[in-house]
Amino acid sequence: MDTLFRIGTGYDIHRLVEGRRLVLGGVEIPFEKGLLGHSDSDVLTHAICDALLGAAAIGDMGTHFPDTDPAFKGASSLNLLENAVAQIASLGYSVQNVDAVILTERPRLAPYMRSMRETLAAILRVEVDRVSIKAKTSEGLESVGRGEAMAAQAVALLSRS
Ligand code: MG
Repeated sequence: MDTLFRIGTGYDIHRLVEGRRLVLGGVEIPFEKGLLGHSDSDVLTHAICDALLGAAAIGDMGTHFPDTDPAFKGASSLNLLENAVAQIASLGYSVQNVDAVILTERPRLAPYMRSMRETLAAILRVEVDRVSIKAKTSEGLESVGRGEAMAAQAVALLSRS
């Protein structure tokens, strides 16, 4: 039987504010600001989650985990990603690879890349070499460049045989 491949894309942005933890890819990163939102606001995990749901064409995080639902207040985004992985698995899909980029001016994320990749790979049920994360600054331009927000983009490839 032929293998079916499906690709999906995800994007997210959250405000950077004082008095919040910074969680990226499920890893808490020491920084003077964190991301504002209903859950832990893990912008990277949200982009990946939307890429998975999009590849399977089953909606997005807004439909599956509405921020009007108190059940998701303060939720760990890894739990939401785990739920999305279970949903695509129930349709017969498994993750081939994920590639993502975090857009932020600060902090420097290189020391946390390995830990983020390992954490996400475990949830995605793949080897760590199938999870790629990059970080880019916005060269001082727009909200990310002014340090007011952090954004993330992701693509995911799923297969079903
Ligand atoms: Mg989000």
